[in-house]
Amino acid sequence: MNKSLISLDNLEKQNLINKNKRALLEPVVAQFQIRITPDMLNAIKNSQSAIEQNLVNYENNPVFKQFVPDIAENTILPEELIDPIGDNAYTPVAGIVHRYCDRVLLKLTAACAVYCRFCFRREMIGAKGEQLSTKQLELALDYIENHQEIWEVILTGGDPLIASQAQLTMLFTRLNKIAHVKNIRIHTRIPIVEPKRISAAMLSLFQTVFTHQKSLYIVIHANHAQEFTENAIKTLAQIADAGIPMLSQSVLLKNINDNLDDLSTLMRTFILHRIKPYYLHQMDLAKGTSHFKVDELYARDLIRALRANISGICIPVLIQEIPAGVGKVPIF
Ligand SMILES: *Cc1c(COP(=O)(O)O)cnc(C)c1O
Ligand code: SF4
Repeated sequence: MNKSLISLDNLEKQNLINKNKRALLEPVVAQFQIRITPDMLNAIKNSQSAIEQNLVNYENNPVFKQFVPDIAENTILPEELIDPIGDNAYTPVAGIVHRYCDRVLLKLTAACAVYCRFCFRREMIGAKGEQLSTKQLELALDYIENHQEIWEVILTGGDPLIASQAQLTMLFTRLNKIAHVKNIRIHTRIPIVEPKRISAAMLSLFQTVFTHQKSLYIVIHANHAQEFTENAIKTLAQIADAGIPMLSQSVLLKNINDNLDDLSTLMRTFILHRIKPYYLHQMDLAKGTSHFKVDELYARDLIRALRANISGICIPVLIQEIPAGVGKVPIF
């Protein structure tokens, strides 16, 4: 069980889907690829509900629902967009999105360790996206160097921590030299879904920013407490012990975390592992994802209930991305 699951074949062998479902899922997978890491497979199989159900039915598992394709993805609504957040209009050079004055996104790679079924970048990631070439990365870094107003560089993708140690070293060596960049932020799911990739060498590389009078924050994407496996918990402790502050980012997902119990447990789990809750995203209009969308009024009620029930440090900001590049708006 060391390899990631990347095909319907793999899912069937693991009893995550049966033959009937498999046939219905062919068109989904032709559009949006599958990838589930061994750690997330364990999170599905070892969950209390899976054990109680004798390992026969994982379909209600909140980790299963995030990564195993569903026939509902065949339903594409007319309002669902290829570029739901409008990144393309704000791309001055390949790999950069410069929408807000003081910060840019730098998209190193289109690959992820897992492919989330609700991903709002699903039309631009995996096989549909492109890896920046070394030359393109140099040009993207030139752009950052030539724009004094850029205070923060946000590494995203795909998942930036899929990049090789050599590539990350080249990147950090250059960023460290750009005096006006004061904060480097990494948005990643890897410490949770494939924690072994976070090596001691990688953490030492991250720490080099501190000696250049910069800070570095890691924003951890997780949506349910059941994603926090023993391996993930160990890695999160290593990151925190390395002096790297962590923030959280989650998506509000129908029938996965859209209730007071699961949401409170998730936020408290972040705090327990030294991660400050930051954003909770309302779903964007990505193709074939409407079955995950939570009604906005209900979403606000949930945040209000969170506030009334748990510690203030556990409360994230509820965010909606307004299409056509308008940007993020806090809605509660
Ligand atoms: C989300 C996003 C950011 C980061 O926004 P914060 O509110 O600072 O977390 C930056 N640039 C783009 C284009 C974004 O979509
Ligand atoms: S890890 Fe992030 S970018 Fe990758 S599929 Fe999941 S949500 Fe999308």
